[in-house]
Amino acid sequence: MKITVIGMWGGFPKKGEPCSGYLIQHEGFSLLVDCGSGVLMKLQEFINLNEIHHVVLSHYHYDHSSDVGAYQFSRLVNTKLGKVDHPLCIYGPENPVKKDEFTSIPYTQFQRIDQDTELTIGPFQLNFLKSIHPVETYAMKITCKNQTIVYTADTSYFEELAVFSKGADLLIAECSLYEGMDGKSFGHMNAREAGLLAAEAKQTILTHLPHYGNLQELLQSAQVVGGMAIDLAKPGMTVKF
Ligand SMILES: [Zn+2]
Ligand SMILES: [Zn+2]
Repeated sequence: MKITVIGMWGGFPKKGEPCSGYLIQHEGFSLLVDCGSGVLMKLQEFINLNEIHHVVLSHYHYDHSSDVGAYQFSRLVNTKLGKVDHPLCIYGPENPVKKDEFTSIPYTQFQRIDQDTELTIGPFQLNFLKSIHPVETYAMKITCKNQTIVYTADTSYFEELAVFSKGADLLIAECSLYEGMDGKSFGHMNAREAGLLAAEAKQTILTHLPHYGNLQELLQSAQVVGGMAIDLAKPGMTVKF
């Protein structure tokens, strides 16, 4: 598997650096996980938009989903131009308003996910765990040839998440807050909590990063509890395993 971080800022993008988006590939098959603000522009540095047919959204906050509408328009235009002949399949939590929005645009399909969903998308198997966040949100485990990526999405720390992510070959852990800040009241994790999850994974990328403070301190706090196999996400960063 190969993962490319498209963007990693929490809440809103920075100049040239999008919010959450992760391109996951194996043997020529590509899957996009989350499509936040700025992702569609940056994504094209790595792949032609017509080569992705599946987009999994963890939840509908704008920093994870706002660019999916533009993606649908690209699929509409490029289908009409004869450049692609496959619909864009969007997977996300049940939400009648979003479902109507998605399916009102031609060449888009929508499939709901919940905690019991098991998806097979190309070579990838996906399982979900409902996270703790102000809106319905799912962490996900992506398995391919006995290797696993766990993406926490947006969430507070909770014990089942530690069980869910244990042993992951790659953990993509949200880390919105610095150590000592109260993640529970925001529905996010601080650096120490992300580190606790990382301690049980083989390798970790911290993502959904805050726009303030010193990110090296954030990283160090996570490493104190989670070990040194932890990195900060950056746009364009790739991990292969
Ligand atoms: Zn977010
Ligand atoms: Zn969120």
